[in-house]
Amino acid sequence: MAEPTVRFLGGVREIGGNKIVLDDGPDRVLFDFGPAFDPRYESFYVDFLTPRSTSPVRDLLEFELLPWLDGLYSKESLGGIEERYTEPSVHAVFVSHAHADHAGYLKFVHPEIPVYTSEGTRKILEANSKSSPTLKYGEHPWKALQPGKPVKVGNLEILPFPVDHSVPYATGFLVRTSVGTLVYTGDFREHGPRAPLTRSFLEAARAEEPKALLIEGTRAGPDPRKNLSEAGVRSALDELLASTAGLAVVSCYPRDVDRIRTLHEAARDSGRTLVVPAKTAFLLRALEGDPSLPLPQPGSDPNLLVYERSKKKLFAWERPLLEGAIGAQEVRRRGRELLLLLDLYQFPELIDIRPEPGTPFVRSMSEPFSDEDVNDAVLKNWLGHFDLRLHQFHASGHCSGPELEAVCREVSATNLFPIHTQHPEAFRHGPGRYCPPEKGVAYLVATGEALP
Ligand SMILES: [Zn+2]
Repeated sequence: MAEPTVRFLGGVREIGGNKIVLDDGPDRVLFDFGPAFDPRYESFYVDFLTPRSTSPVRDLLEFELLPWLDGLYSKESLGGIEERYTEPSVHAVFVSHAHADHAGYLKFVHPEIPVYTSEGTRKILEANSKSSPTLKYGEHPWKALQPGKPVKVGNLEILPFPVDHSVPYATGFLVRTSVGTLVYTGDFREHGPRAPLTRSFLEAARAEEPKALLIEGTRAGPDPRKNLSEAGVRSALDELLASTAGLAVVSCYPRDVDRIRTLHEAARDSGRTLVVPAKTAFLLRALEGDPSLPLPQPGSDPNLLVYERSKKKLFAWERPLLEGAIGAQEVRRRGRELLLLLDLYQFPELIDIRPEPGTPFVRSMSEPFSDEDVNDAVLKNWLGHFDLRLHQFHASGHCSGPELEAVCREVSATNLFPIHTQHPEAFRHGPGRYCPPEKGVAYLVATGEALP
C-alpha cells in the first residue's frame, strides 16, 4: 500500500490559495480550495476579459492558472468537454474557514464530492452567496463538522478543532493517517477573542506527537505592519471617539465579525450609533442566535443602524433590512452621534455625505505591503480629496513571527511544512525537519521526503 503523501497545489510561497491534497492508499482528501493573488492571471485576463462562465476551469487550466487534479472538477466547469473530465475521485473537501482564499474555488468542485465545514462557516458562505452575486460556492453534499468529533473518510480520521481567526467559526485539523498524525492549522491567531480555542487545538495537536505540521505563516519573516490586539483596537477607538466632535468613519473587512462587535461596543460606549452597510446587517442576521458570539441585531439594537446608499434597484435580501435605514443626508446631519462603517467600494457615498474637513477615517484592516499598492493610492486620493485624517487600528487574523515559532516548538512535529507565507525560510530552525514545499510535489507524511 502506498505510503501517505501530502501535496500542495497552492499556498506555496504565497499568502492564500491553499489547496492541500492528502493521499493515503486509496483515500484522497483535499483541504481548502481557493484562489491566491497570481500576477500571471493578469497576463491573460484583465478587466472584462475573463474566463467564460460556461467553462471557467477549462479557461483557467489553459494557462495553468488552476492546478489539475484528477476527479476534482465538475463536468460543467470544464465546459462539458469529455476529454479532460474524470469521474470524482477526491473523497471529500475540508474547508477551514469562510475566506475566499480557502473557499473561493468550491464552485468548481464536482457536485457529488462532499464538503465538510463548520456549521458557522457554512452559514457565512450562504450569507455571502445570497448578498453578493459574484460569490458562489456550488451545490454539494454539505456536511457539518462538530468540534472534536472525528470524521472517517476511508481509513483516514479527521478531527476538527475550532480556532481563532479574523472570521468566526474557523477550523484547524488533526488528521490520523496510516503512519501517524498530520496537523493542518488553517489560518489562526492567538491574540483574538477566541484565543482559548486555538490553545486547546495546539494542546491536542501536541498530544498526538504528530508526524507533520502544516502551518500558515502569513506574518512570518519581516513584518513592518503595525498590529494591535482586539482589545488594543478597542482602546484606540475609545480614545479617538472621545476626542472627536463630529462624524467618524471606519472601514474593516466585511466578514471580520469580531471587529464589527468592537466597533459597535466602542460606538455605544461613546454615545454613538454604528451605521453599517446592508450586507453587514445581513451577515449579522445570518449569524444570530449563537450564545458564544452575541451579535448586535439590526432592527432591535438601539446602537445599530443600516445605511441606505443611493441605488436604482433593491435586492430582495436587502429590502427587509432597510426599514428605518438612514441615507447620506441624515448621516451628515447626525454626524456626531454616529460611527459610520463604510465599505471601500462604497466610497462614492462620501460625495453625498460631504464629511467635515478633518473627519477621522479609521482603516481597521491590514496595511498594504508596499506603497505601490494601487488600492492604497486610490484610498489616499479619496482621503485627500475630502480631507479625512487616516488612522490605522487593526488586529491581525494571524499569529506573529514569535508566536509561530512558539507554536512549532509546542507542537513539535517530525516534519514542518510552512505554507500560506512568502517567508518559509523563517521556519528553517524547526524544531522538526524543515520541508518548504514546492508546488505540486508529493511529500511523504512520515519522513517529509519529496517523491520524484
Ligand atoms: Zn488565508
